[in-house]
Amino acid sequence: MQFSKRIEKLPPYLFVEISRKIAEKRAKGEDIVSFAIGDPDMPTPPHIIEQLCRAAHDSTNHRYPETEGLIEFRQAIAEWYKGRFNLELDPDKEILPLIGSKEGIGHIALCLIDPGDIGLVPDPAYPVYAVSTLLAGGVPYYLPLTEEQDFLPALEQIPSEVAQQAKVLWINYPNNPTAAVAGLDFFERVVAFAKKHDIAVCHDAPYTEIAFDGYRPVSFLQAQGAREVGVEFHSLSKSYNMTGWRVGMMVGNAAMVNALMRVKSNLDSGIPQAIQQAAIVALQSSQECIQEHNAIYQQRRDRILEVLSRIGLKVIPPQASLYLWVKVPPGHTSTTFATLLLEEAGVVVTPGIGYGKHGEGYIRLSLTLPDDRMELGLERLLNCTSIQV
Ligand SMILES: *Cc1c(COP(=O)(O)O)cnc(C)c1O
Repeated sequence: MQFSKRIEKLPPYLFVEISRKIAEKRAKGEDIVSFAIGDPDMPTPPHIIEQLCRAAHDSTNHRYPETEGLIEFRQAIAEWYKGRFNLELDPDKEILPLIGSKEGIGHIALCLIDPGDIGLVPDPAYPVYAVSTLLAGGVPYYLPLTEEQDFLPALEQIPSEVAQQAKVLWINYPNNPTAAVAGLDFFERVVAFAKKHDIAVCHDAPYTEIAFDGYRPVSFLQAQGAREVGVEFHSLSKSYNMTGWRVGMMVGNAAMVNALMRVKSNLDSGIPQAIQQAAIVALQSSQECIQEHNAIYQQRRDRILEVLSRIGLKVIPPQASLYLWVKVPPGHTSTTFATLLLEEAGVVVTPGIGYGKHGEGYIRLSLTLPDDRMELGLERLLNCTSIQV
């Protein structure tokens, strides 16, 4: 059998070696504490689950949904965006529900990229931006995210011949994996850059609701002119602990919404209606659950920061997202340090190199593990003499 060149072009799975070591240790019965998973450990709030159960019993929900989603769901998304960001969105033209935002991020490249076109992809980044660009036949051009530039891409450093051939710019704030945030000033520079070079902007924003110390992330669509050049991907996954239900949305530029709708109507048949109805309840009910979850994440963040600083590791305290982006000590790479933590402390972290070349020199720790597991992991780090910096 011969597989497509498209498949061969996909980057190798970079965590192979460390995954093998984890599996080996677990097979030997060793208890491994993982700070590597970016998936809320807390359950979906009960009021959302109750609606899902009720909706599952409704036989009108047993049939094919429409690709464009229930109008009630699109209206609930519009109302939520109005309440949260004071933005008016047209539920018919500017909102498209997705089977999780990852699905839309994967498919939008098919709407924007022809073979040989350039996709501007941050490095480090969530791997799907580069993968969707590659699957569409495009070529990723990587934009380094460095600490000196607050992990924002230096748009003015993109060579003009690259910008001319680029069809899409991917951005993501609050950011995974660096936990960096962006303000409207940055988003306005993105809009100007996109207009100048006729580039579509895809802002991936699943972490706008996960923030600390009173910080409130902004929406890309709040930037002047954003809707003329781009869209925002959003998701219920992280806000409401709903990663398992697969529901998200793309909002913004009407032509992009229409294009993705055309692709999706040929590939999938929408989101199960019972899940859409649960999502409506999530968006329309009290948002107090988000504050409760954030209070827990913030406590975990503070506890991890305290331990890391006692060990001598450097980290910028995150204002948002579910992650800590931690510098590895001198003399280590992200992989050697992650391997050391696994071997000497039985603790798993994600080596930054897995998110791209410029992720080298960092590891990512996630806040999504239960407090008792986190404490166990932190104690092991404190007691491990070979990692004291
Ligand atoms: C978790 C995550 C997503 C995916 O969210 P789903 O809606 O569950 O598909 C997208 N982008 C980033 C950066 C993420 O971390």
